[in-house]
Amino acid sequence: MTRTQLVDAIRHKNGVLTKTRVERNRAQKRAETAAEKVKLHERLVAALATQDVPRLQRLLQVAMDQGRSIEDILKRIEDAVTAVYHVKSFSATEIDLARVMWHLAGDKGAYILHKALGFPSVTTIREQSQSTRPTIHPSPSTPTLEYITRNLLSMFPSNPTRRVCRCGQAIMFDGIAIRKCMRRDDDHMVGACRECTAGMDLSMSCLENILSLARAVRRGDNGEDPLVHFGVEATVGAMGALRGIDYHAYPFSVSASCKAEKASEFKDYLELHLLAWKMVCAETYGDIWIVGCDGASVFRGACFQLLMASTFSDDLRAMLSPLRGLNLQCGPDDVVHCPDPKHLIKREYALSLI
Ligand SMILES: [Zn+2]
Repeated sequence: MTRTQLVDAIRHKNGVLTKTRVERNRAQKRAETAAEKVKLHERLVAALATQDVPRLQRLLQVAMDQGRSIEDILKRIEDAVTAVYHVKSFSATEIDLARVMWHLAGDKGAYILHKALGFPSVTTIREQSQSTRPTIHPSPSTPTLEYITRNLLSMFPSNPTRRVCRCGQAIMFDGIAIRKCMRRDDDHMVGACRECTAGMDLSMSCLENILSLARAVRRGDNGEDPLVHFGVEATVGAMGALRGIDYHAYPFSVSASCKAEKASEFKDYLELHLLAWKMVCAETYGDIWIVGCDGASVFRGACFQLLMASTFSDDLRAMLSPLRGLNLQCGPDDVVHCPDPKHLIKREYALSLI
């Protein structure tokens, strides 16, 4: 081997050595990285196996959608366990479930679900429901025509987004027991009985309105008869379509009562609701055919006074009069009373016991 050949051989050897060292260093770094990843995966598995992570599936889904690394996911899991991190994204099922719980169990039920299982809070449910949920305001006092039409138009818009099939409608009233308390709604105080608050200003525009209502209610504390009562029952008015599909009852009117109302007063109440529907909804959704209510004597008395006051129009009377024994009495616009037969049977049974 000549001197030149020897120098070339040494250079080649040095090049191979350098290349080998570089490859060895790279392989070493890859091995270290792989070992770190294995450790991270082991930590992840240990965390999933041992920690109670709220809404784990959603947390992982959100992290993967964002392309987060295993290290980030681990950090989020640790933060979720210590309640530092909350997944703010909710699936449609979670929102629907929280909404159902909210409707069934109110704010407290939704709060429990939120705290225990990380479901949407009441605020989130409200925000999510804003676009689809019609707003129904309870009446602060005796409902006015303006109040009823506003609620009706919220529930039954004049230009509905879906196709509406016009048909006969049933208007129904029932009483629901409520908690005796006042609350604020739309800058008004609601929860006081409609019978005793006529003429009172129940808006929260000034302190004097609030104090005068409080004084009227608290008179009972001194042994005197209160001038105004807390409502013990909410009279709920609802509409139901008389057809084979989508015949659910849609509530649109809520008003608190202390149950001191007379039948003649409820007759006016009923008449106002019939008028409101006729004014703003009948043309689009159909006329009211029947009025339904439960067996309460005030409801029945009012229905008797209003819906037995006249007879059917000529066309209907001509068709129905051959039916011997049929009651041909009705109210305005041929509306008839349609009590639940269950209440008739109950009343007959009660009378038979006397
Ligand atoms: Zn009252």
